[in-house]
Formats: sequence, structure tokens, C-alpha cells
Amino acid sequence: MLTLAFAACENPASPENPGHVHQWGQWTRTTAPTCTELGEETRVCALNSSHVERRDVSIDTDAHNWGEWVGTVTCETAGSGTRVCANNQEHIDTDDNVQPLGHNYEWKETTAPTCTDPGVETGTCTRDATHTDTLTGGAALGHSYGAWTVTKAPAPGAVGKETKVCARDSSHTEERLIHFMEMVQISAGTFTMGSYDSQDTGAAPPHSVMLGAFSMGRYEITQEQYEAVMESNPSSFTDEAAGESKDRRPVERVSWYDVLVFCNKLSMMEGLTPAYSISGTHPRF
Ligand SMILES: [Zn+2]
Ligand SMILES: [Zn+2]
Ligand SMILES: [Zn+2]
Ligand SMILES: [Zn+2]
Repeated sequence: MLTLAFAACENPASPENPGHVHQWGQWTRTTAPTCTELGEETRVCALNSSHVERRDVSIDTDAHNWGEWVGTVTCETAGSGTRVCANNQEHIDTDDNVQPLGHNYEWKETTAPTCTDPGVETGTCTRDATHTDTLTGGAALGHSYGAWTVTKAPAPGAVGKETKVCARDSSHTEERLIHFMEMVQISAGTFTMGSYDSQDTGAAPPHSVMLGAFSMGRYEITQEQYEAVMESNPSSFTDEAAGESKDRRPVERVSWYDVLVFCNKLSMMEGLTPAYSISGTHPRF
């Protein structure tokens, strides 16, 4: 059966004479036929895409919509079976050697993934619920950290702390130190170094020293600050007598070379380029 459809045509003398000779394209199947329903094919005119022709495709007596095999056949072993067409219950297929059906797992999340664990999905076979399988191939979610929040304010000589907390699990936290270093600008100048002190003969004679401008920490480095950078505390005044906190005492017994290492490490912790390099015993700035 053929039907013609015209939506528009330049000079239609009649529906059969549309004003030009159609240039039909290929027939294209738009609906496949089944065992009970006709299918449909259409073709479109290359001169005007609103010129469309359609035709039926006859019923396909082999295009059944089979249900599950029922019988002795199982997921894993061959056997006999019968299946019924969902389009027409009278279409019945029987076979005494149906190949194993295989499992038909439906997957469901049974252990939710976490920041660090990928979680577990469990598959249950729709043909036999005693057949199950698990999948762990997913990916962990990873932490979802919020912004850094100051949990201990830094102060002169005291190291501050800031923390970020995972939005998925508040027991996941990360902590980093805030290195308080208040600097003072020292302007260029000249001073007299040394003395005639008989206790320190190496200091004689007093002499004039000229220095360019530089920055310097306003406060002495405390034991807490030193330990936070160097992970060691060489000080001897570490007792907490008389209500004093050793953390706030200045660090002592630090060699001149320790100071260079401290400065470089602190620079790196602050994301700055280390200022000093040491070759043998000759530091460079
Ligand atoms: Zn046409
Ligand atoms: Zn059928
Ligand atoms: Zn199964
Ligand atoms: Zn987390």
C-alpha cells in the first residue's frame, strides 16, 4: 500500500502533479515489523523535505518477542525449555536442548563508596536469586575538603594552626601550621663593632662596619617556632618551672649553620625560594 503526503509544493496543479518531479531518496525503515504488527518505511524528496512517502512493511513471522525459557534449562546447564511470545500467547517455542541461559545480574550498591574506599556492588541473578556476585572495581570518592579555617591564631613567637574538614566525613581533617614571622625593616647604616674589653681580645680594635638595608624578625625565634620548622629543639632551658611555657622561651644552643637551615626550611614551608646556599663552610646569600 502506498500513500502520498504533501505538506507544501511550489505550484501544485493537483496532488499528483506537485510542480516538480520528485527526487526520492532511499527507503528508510522507521518501524521494524514484528510477528503481529506491520512495520513502516519512508523516503524523502531531495527537492523538498516536506514531500514524504511512506509504505508498510509486511509482518515478520520470525520477529517474536520471546519471554524467558521455562523448563529444565538453567543459568549454567543446558536442558529443555518452552517460551511464549509476549505479542501473541499462541506463539510458543519449545526446544529440548536449550543452551545454558547465563546469569542475568541486576547490580545494586550494597556498600556505599567513601572518601578512601570504592564500595561494593552486589549482583543478583533475575533467573535465580541464589546466584550472586560482587563488584569492587569502582573508584573511591576522594576527600571533599572545605576551606582552611584558623583553629589557633598565630601570635608573635607562637605558631598558629589551620584545619580543613572533609564535607563527606568530618573525622577527616588536615592540619597545617601558620608560621608567624613579623619582620622589621632595618635601614642601611654604619656602626662601630668591637671593643678593647680585656675579656674578649678578639674584638679589638673597635672598627666601623657599614650595612645595607635588610629585614629582620621583630622577636627572637621561640622554641615552639624552631621545633615546628626543624622538628627538634636543641635548647637546655626546657623546664616549665614557675608557670612558664618553654614554647615561648627563645631557642638556644643553635649554631650559625642551624640558623641558615632554619631560614631555608621556613622559606620552603612558606612557598618562598630559600635564600641561602652553603658550599663547604662558605654560605652564600
Ligand atoms: Zn518533491
Ligand atoms: Zn510472536
Ligand atoms: Zn543465574
Ligand atoms: Zn573524606
